[in-house]
Amino acid sequence: MKKAKNPLVVGNWKMNPLSVSLSFKLAKEIKSLLSKKNPVTVVIAPPALYLETVKKVANGSHLFTLGAQNAYYEKLGAHTGEISIPMLKDIGVSHVIVGHSERREKGETDVAVNQKVLAVIKEGLIAVLCIGERARDSAGNYLTFIEQQIRSSLREVGRTKLEQVVIAYEPVWAIGAGVSATPEDVREMRIFIEKVLSDIFGRNYASKVRILYGGSVSEKNAKEIFVQGTVDGFLVGGASLHPREFVHIIKNVSSI
Ligand code: PEP
Repeated sequence: MKKAKNPLVVGNWKMNPLSVSLSFKLAKEIKSLLSKKNPVTVVIAPPALYLETVKKVANGSHLFTLGAQNAYYEKLGAHTGEISIPMLKDIGVSHVIVGHSERREKGETDVAVNQKVLAVIKEGLIAVLCIGERARDSAGNYLTFIEQQIRSSLREVGRTKLEQVVIAYEPVWAIGAGVSATPEDVREMRIFIEKVLSDIFGRNYASKVRILYGGSVSEKNAKEIFVQGTVDGFLVGGASLHPREFVHIIKNVSSI
């Protein structure tokens, strides 16, 4: 059964769009389509360079909040090119995506992911922890892989902090592929993730963690995956760059 949690939809713009003015336009279009009565928490995660612009568009409207696509775990210092979590917090970021597969592919390790999760929690923000297998095998080894990702990413996270953790299950094979996991795949994985979390933290604490799905979510498949997959929302990549489609996904989630 689906839990009574407010749904969450995070739009990951990745390295798009091409200019500040286009980011302003995109955020404005999304804002104009969002309803104030919407019970869904909507997070927009633009490239860090556009956070200030997107924040201006949000203008305290509570229609959406700001997300970061990545962060570094140290606070300050000689870390060229990095952005720290206190810096993101200062600009108004509420959610930080951690361990996206596109970053893991560039060498981000489980250890670094764990350090980032801990640092996000320490600053009082919400970590959207991405996990997901590269491929599935009939022997079910992918489940062992997922369990290992959860255990290593959440090492030393206190169970009283689990409200600050969101898990985005994003099978790598479905990201940007145009083909999502089936609602049955998603449901099975949700149950599995909950079991792993219960084993680590105990059932009551584990139930605080929101579980999202990500990977080729579109206006066509969102409702089915949300209902039958029994997830708490979505991490949306490509479709979050299309205001009508993105808001349609949010409406599908909020109408249930
Ligand atoms: C993502 O970037 O996290 C993602 C799920 O991308 P897409 O929706 O484009 O598959």
